[in-house]
Amino acid sequence: MIKILIVEDERPIADLLDMSLTAAGYSCDCIDNGLDAADAVEEKHYDLILLDVMLPGSDGFELMEYFAPLQIPVIFITARSSVKDRIRGLKLGADDYIVKPFEIAELLARVETVLRRCHKTDSRITAGDVTVDTQSRVVTRAGEPVQLTAKEYNLLLLFLQNKNIALFRETIYERVWENEYMGDSRTVDLHVQRLRKKLGWQEKIAAVYKVGYRLEVRE
Ligand code: CA
Repeated sequence: MIKILIVEDERPIADLLDMSLTAAGYSCDCIDNGLDAADAVEEKHYDLILLDVMLPGSDGFELMEYFAPLQIPVIFITARSSVKDRIRGLKLGADDYIVKPFEIAELLARVETVLRRCHKTDSRITAGDVTVDTQSRVVTRAGEPVQLTAKEYNLLLLFLQNKNIALFRETIYERVWENEYMGDSRTVDLHVQRLRKKLGWQEKIAAVYKVGYRLEVRE
């Protein structure tokens, strides 16, 4: 799980950041002053720091000089909107800059972009010799690209997200086709056949009697 350190002394803003980022699937720690922030970064591993400029103790710029050699991406969060401050932050090595008040959607987009740019997110899922890049939607088998239809791709992702778990045909249909299952299993069966053939997964996608299918992966 991606860990984010929030350094912000305004409690309502720290809480808002914490809640929004936690809801988006990140793990967050909040610290309200510069000195404790420096300690936290030495004690724990963080993938990203959200750093307020105006802080008790040492300010965000001083902290940035401390964090920069550690190679942890930093996004400045500040009420100041002057160009001078923005340039100073970026020159010190910050990866981005957000001016309060900000929209949560904007914050999440910036966090995602910085993490991606710093290769902190892994967009690839693998099983055996098959790799899926969920950002580019490119599927490869032993390094060779495999052409899948949109439904086959979604079906593959569903299996990869549920390795070694038996999936009911009904569940597969509802998740991949986003329609209510009316009891006709031929569509699901046909797509599973096609996926098995394209990936060489005749054995790997096992039929589960009276249930559906299971992707069997030993890792
Ligand atoms: Ca502040």
